[in-house]
Amino acid sequence: MIELDHRTMEMLEEVRALGREHIRPMGLEADRTASPPPVDHPFYLICTRQGGLVSGMIGAEDGPTSLDWKPVRNFLIGEETAYWDRGVALSLPGPGLGGPALRNTATPEQRARFLSIFEDHSRARWGAMAMTEPGAGSDVARIATRARKDGDEWVLSGQKMFCSNSARADWVVVWATVDPALGRGGHRAFVVERGTPGFEIIKVEHKMGSRGYETASFALDDVRLPADNLLGGESFYESRKGFKASMATFNMTRPLHTAHGVGMGRAAHDFALDFVRSDYPAQGRRRQRALERLARIRRRLHTARLMYLQAVWLAKTGQSNALEASYAKMYSPPIVLEAVVAALDILGEAGVRNDRMLEKLYRDAKILDIGEGTQQVQRVVVARQLFDFPRDA
Ligand SMILES: Cc1cc2nc3c(=O)[nH]c(=O)nc-3n(C[C@H](O)[C@H](O)[C@H](O)COP(=O)(O)OP(=O)(O)OC[C@H]3O[C@@H](n4cnc5c(N)ncnc54)[C@H](O)[C@@H]3O)c2cc1C
Repeated sequence: MIELDHRTMEMLEEVRALGREHIRPMGLEADRTASPPPVDHPFYLICTRQGGLVSGMIGAEDGPTSLDWKPVRNFLIGEETAYWDRGVALSLPGPGLGGPALRNTATPEQRARFLSIFEDHSRARWGAMAMTEPGAGSDVARIATRARKDGDEWVLSGQKMFCSNSARADWVVVWATVDPALGRGGHRAFVVERGTPGFEIIKVEHKMGSRGYETASFALDDVRLPADNLLGGESFYESRKGFKASMATFNMTRPLHTAHGVGMGRAAHDFALDFVRSDYPAQGRRRQRALERLARIRRRLHTARLMYLQAVWLAKTGQSNALEASYAKMYSPPIVLEAVVAALDILGEAGVRNDRMLEKLYRDAKILDIGEGTQQVQRVVVARQLFDFPRDA
């Protein structure tokens, strides 16, 4: 049993208040207009000034450069934020998916350099992380973006796609290869800062759901970077450490997906429960059946929460969590869908004319299947962990 400290409880209450007032309405609006809130949205400034509510699993309260890492608190806040709207949760200012990448690869000096920008509260700022490419999604070992050394500089060329928040980011952690023939051994992580010549956003995706944050493709056309933008320095990448670091990143972002899923499933559950209480007859079989269905969903969401907390606790205590991270990632998407479908059934025709909430959740949920490794890929990871299922190069 996890005992939450006073500050965590207080922060969860703050998120609830912000969620009700800002996050849910912003999510519904983004869905309606099919575009995320603009970078100068006043809520982002509130988050930036107030601290505590940032993306990237680094609590602003601890100072964004702090190593006093509180993952359980951050994941619970992630769950609560996604309860109000997962899309907007992912659009919150902060290092985003770049946060875990920096944590796993950067030197202390690099962390300080790239994370300290979030201490400037005059405007909202974002980080991002780009692994996926047109020819390398699930099979990240096949990334083809090239990195070559030229004197004291690194030169990057290639294309990345589906990179969340990259169109508004101050920097993007870009994974590239020094030689595709080296497979995973060739992987390196670089930070590309906004405004670097050759970095160009090509396209912002029109998404079916989770529209509160933007996802973009970008080109790297001979982007020149100082040597110090190679995260961890060259010695870090001996013995395939680059690939291991990128996998360690997924071992944190996969449980975060689960935390988001639990939040979304709870949202559907609560929506349906409110409806049963206010619109169903006080007695009767119909009400009983609906409540039984919701009770089962609540049990499953609780299981999903325990799964992500276990994966996070293992990481926090320095233990391997690849298996538990994949278990958690695999478990939650079907439960979220079950919760949304049950809520739609329970509301009946009211479910499809209720200000888009449930219909939107239905579309929002699909990304939980895809991001940070699809359901099929999680099964491959689990099989490798449990049964020595063969791996490629
Ligand atoms: C909204 C959104 C946001 C994203 N944000 C980011 C981001 O910020 N940064 C980033 O780097 N990426 C991001 N991604 C990319 C995401 O991680 C990839 O989409 C995902 O890894 C799947 O890759 P793919 O789309 O290329 O599908 P593919 O790899 O082409 O897979 C297609 C299908 O084949 C299946 N498949 C593939 N390999 C196997 C296998 N070995 N065994 C069985 N089945 C298999 C898959 O499960 C899937 O069903 C985002 C994606 C979306 C949709």
